[in-house]
Amino acid sequence: MTKEPDASTGTAVAGGELIRLEGVTKRFGTNTVLDDLNFSVEPGKHVTLIGPSGSGKTTILRLLMTLTKPDEGTITVDGQPLFPAPEKQVREVRKKIGMVFQQFNLFPNMSVLRNLTEAPVRVLGLSKDEAEARARELLDLVGLADKCDAKPTRLSGGQQQRVAIARALAMRPQVLLLDEVTSALDPELVAGVLDLLRDIARSTDITMLCVTHEMGFARDISDQVLMFDAGRVIEAGAPEKIFGDPEQERTREFISAVL
Ligand code: ADP
Repeated sequence: MTKEPDASTGTAVAGGELIRLEGVTKRFGTNTVLDDLNFSVEPGKHVTLIGPSGSGKTTILRLLMTLTKPDEGTITVDGQPLFPAPEKQVREVRKKIGMVFQQFNLFPNMSVLRNLTEAPVRVLGLSKDEAEARARELLDLVGLADKCDAKPTRLSGGQQQRVAIARALAMRPQVLLLDEVTSALDPELVAGVLDLLRDIARSTDITMLCVTHEMGFARDISDQVLMFDAGRVIEAGAPEKIFGDPEQERTREFISAVL
């Protein structure tokens, strides 16, 4: 089946997409924070959401995590409806998605290792040994193999965020959502976390949806950049185009303000 490209994003909205939002509207009271949004993401692609504060970027990630529900529209992940859908199906679809938050959100009373094994054991049904083996591999990947027994509060912000990234990957998600993951870090810790994410983007086939104000990082990892304003995608394209020669004046203004 051939479909027209979606006018707001230039992305074809049929065939081969892993994530699809159609006509998604979200309101908080009288505030329409997402306004008839349509976009799709193909498997393995890295899509970055940029735009001013309050333009609705985080709300999209929260919708995909089912932390909030749309008022209108449909959301599909890997061909399965996430909204609207029965609760049991939502739980299945949710397993495909991992998220890393600005504030790490680690379990403070559990060791680093247990932070990584808890959900794989409880949600995926892995044995404790399997989950620990996977956790140790991931902690090695993020450079924290020696911190298995530490409590997260003993770690630096950068280390905690590495643990949070490893914890998300421990669920072997198809999609990784990253919500301003370096915003809460001291400036000297930002580069290390971004380098780790660049490595993950390069060396895995995981699909990434990333909200960031780090424009250099966005330029490096993105296949596509979506520029948001007031709950709509006002421009979408390859990073070279969006950062180098944007069509919308609003995009140009935003990028020169944050660079
Ligand atoms: P961004 O990530 O682009 O900064 P958000 O998605 O966080 O934007 O927020 C979009 C709008 O939705 C903002 O106006 C924000 O105040 C509002 N908003 C977000 N979450 C809530 C909530 N739980 N209750 C009320 N308003 C909210």
